[in-house]
Amino acid sequence: MREMHAEIRDEVKKLCARFPGEYWRKLDAARGYPTEFVQALTQAGYLGALIPEEYGGAGLPLSAASAILETIHHAGSNAAACHAQMYIMGTILRHGSEAQKRHYLPKIATGELRLQAFGVTEPTSGTDTTSLRTFARKEGDKYIVNGQKVWTSRAEHSDLMLLLARTTPKDQTAKRTEGLSTFIVDMKSSLGKGLTIRPIRSMMNHNSTEVFFDNMEVPAENLVGVEGRGFKYILDGMNAERLLIASESIGDTKWFIEKATAYANSRVVFGRPIGQNQGVQFPIAKAYAQMRAAELLVHEGLRKFDAGEHCGEEANMAKMLAADCAWAAAEACIQTHGGFGFAEEYDVERKFREARLYQVAPISTNLILSYVAEHVLGMPRSY
Ligand SMILES: Cc1cc2nc3c(=O)[nH]c(=O)nc-3n(C[C@H](O)[C@H](O)[C@H](O)COP(=O)(O)OP(=O)(O)OC[C@H]3O[C@@H](n4cnc5c(N)ncnc54)[C@H](O)[C@@H]3O)c2cc1C
Repeated sequence: MREMHAEIRDEVKKLCARFPGEYWRKLDAARGYPTEFVQALTQAGYLGALIPEEYGGAGLPLSAASAILETIHHAGSNAAACHAQMYIMGTILRHGSEAQKRHYLPKIATGELRLQAFGVTEPTSGTDTTSLRTFARKEGDKYIVNGQKVWTSRAEHSDLMLLLARTTPKDQTAKRTEGLSTFIVDMKSSLGKGLTIRPIRSMMNHNSTEVFFDNMEVPAENLVGVEGRGFKYILDGMNAERLLIASESIGDTKWFIEKATAYANSRVVFGRPIGQNQGVQFPIAKAYAQMRAAELLVHEGLRKFDAGEHCGEEANMAKMLAADCAWAAAEACIQTHGGFGFAEEYDVERKFREARLYQVAPISTNLILSYVAEHVLGMPRSY
């Protein structure tokens, strides 16, 4: 049976073939940004896949975006440099004014403007998002922003940031989820005028940064939707984010399994392929079985999302199970390769480092289990 969005998968695969392991290895060593890769995806229209046609995008369903990201990761490439655009723009699409949509979305679709930075996480509050401290104070026709974000990926390579900041102190709101607002920040014009970006060197090449706001001015017209409702707007986009990240983990899993299987079949030790040993076969076979199960849940989540049904349960569990199977496959792949798994030229160690992230970001496994316990199974909230 042909896979869903088979034509898109074929085309993305061809595009990724122009960016082989060597390309990613060089960038990884230099912690560089894959500019040419992102440009190629943009020109082919993939990063505007979810933007409606009336705003210059392809108007495709989430399942198509999932196919694009899965294929990128299956090919050994990495979509982390650009995936955020797909789900961040949803906040502008769903909650922005018509003027904002007409101004930003067509330019995001063509790549004239990059919306890649998502400023939510802060060093002091972490997962407890509603305790974030960055504050936007309204003064006439602008907001004055002070505070700090951490792990803001791609900030140096983005024109715009979607920022979540407090506009009403927490102790003055009825609920802690109120009083937070979302803003479109023009990073290029704010740089050096209240906005400072500092790269964080991390385990893998993710172009993450710390971002500091010191009396940074944001025009009031850049507020997205209604002041104080920003947390809800961010939550609205989370199921799409979870399903797309899960798709990347499914792609990673497929890459690890194919790489491990090929090596197990070709590497001869003790006069026979190492893949003839059950001790080598079983971890790979198990990761494959885990992947097939996670993939079914991703597809069920996508089906519900594209039908406009609530898919919080499927999106959360799919993200967790896909990250788990990617990690199981990564572990099996590096073990199958023996010492060569640690050599950079095989790309296994790079993908191994990259795959690990998704147990922590954009939401950690514990918090998904808390969601399932509370919202699906009806147990008391644990935090
Ligand atoms: C490479 C990278 C890129 C990122 N990119 C972005 C980005 O672009 N934009 C952005 O806003 N953020 C980004 N993040 C941040 C990411 O979303 C957070 O790291 C993640 O949500 C976890 O938050 P934290 O690091 O503050 O961990 P903490 O909240 O400090 O949690 C630490 C550990 O404690 C556990 N824990 C915390 N509370 C509970 C609880 N109640 N019950 C059980 N366990 C709990 C967590 O599961 C976790 O394992 C990125 C992170 C990384 C590493």
